[in-house]
Amino acid sequence: MNDAYRLETLAIHAGQEADPATGAIMTPIYQTSTFVQSEPGQHKGYEYSRSGNPTRAALEACIAGLEGGQYGLAFASGLAAIDTIMRLLNPGDHVIVGNDVYGGTYRLFERVLARYGLRFSWVDLTQPEALDAALAPQTRMLWLETPTNPLMTLVDIPALVARVPEHVIVAVDNTFASPAIQQPLRLGADIVMHSSTKYLGGHSDVVGGLLALNDEKLYADLKFLQNAIGGVPGPMDCFLVLRGIKTLALRIERHSANALQIAQFLEDHPAVTQVLYPGLESHPQYDLARRQMRYPGGMISILVENPEAARRMVSRTKLFALAESLGGVESLIEVPAAMTHMSTQGSTLEVPGTLVRLSVGIEHVDDLIQDLQEALA
Ligand SMILES: *Cc1c(COP(=O)(O)O)cnc(C)c1O
Repeated sequence: MNDAYRLETLAIHAGQEADPATGAIMTPIYQTSTFVQSEPGQHKGYEYSRSGNPTRAALEACIAGLEGGQYGLAFASGLAAIDTIMRLLNPGDHVIVGNDVYGGTYRLFERVLARYGLRFSWVDLTQPEALDAALAPQTRMLWLETPTNPLMTLVDIPALVARVPEHVIVAVDNTFASPAIQQPLRLGADIVMHSSTKYLGGHSDVVGGLLALNDEKLYADLKFLQNAIGGVPGPMDCFLVLRGIKTLALRIERHSANALQIAQFLEDHPAVTQVLYPGLESHPQYDLARRQMRYPGGMISILVENPEAARRMVSRTKLFALAESLGGVESLIEVPAAMTHMSTQGSTLEVPGTLVRLSVGIEHVDDLIQDLQEALA
């Protein structure tokens, strides 16, 4: 695929070409566990679908293309992708993580991987200097999320990359933004990770995870781990993500345009204490958002007066469905403290019960605003 193609074009074509045997324009779903060999070890590139499958290979090439990387890898979920990255490390290794991340990432790091001897420091990375103090001789990885889930905080990827020694792997969870908004590999990151369950899939019909990267050795290590651990997606799921990605650029434009209007509406609403959205001038990192993000994205978090008001609001919307997850065409609303981020309760990453998170869909914005107006009335 021509590297010079723009994201809108790559979203439709990267990793995909008409099936040479039949001319089928859509990537076939190779629903098979194994592949016939003519002699032991003689095959057409595929042996067993945990190791590799042509539908998955198309998705892996697609995410590589979208993120401006050489290599892609697909997983059964975002967390399976994160877990596989972490198996690059050894007991005693130290990881620096931003102090606001997806609840499942926190749970995996502190409740599972810490038992295997990995050490995690949770640091306010909005202040790049804070990174210097946290760096230790054993630091092997810097884990970034931007914007963060759920507080919509940004970190300056190139500024942080510049502060870590060469041997520290910089991984960025790009789930909230998608490559239509930012491409961390181009900003110096070593690995980009996605929950393709969200914007890449885009239709709330599949759970998946993806990685993209440039380094050949790192790719060989991750590919080995992908097969050795086995957290791989099935061909049907790969097909669904590939199909979702085709409209990524269009969807992100509409998600962002709708979210900006809704953020402005909420900012003027008396029942809303604060709106956290990188597209608003009131966002403390508005300048960084303008510099690092092509669009402000479809995620908004707000603070309301008390936890009761938060619960009331999310129970009263009709179009905004009360549900976990995000990034689909339909609008969702939730209370992170009681839902997606319950795992951080009692930790320094605990989020307030007054926080409401909105995943703004691509419905007509006037209908969405009316829904919120009625819910807040
Ligand atoms: C959902 C999510 C994940 C986890 O992905 P799954 O596909 O649910 O395993 C990781 N990071 C972020 C930012 C997410 O929103």
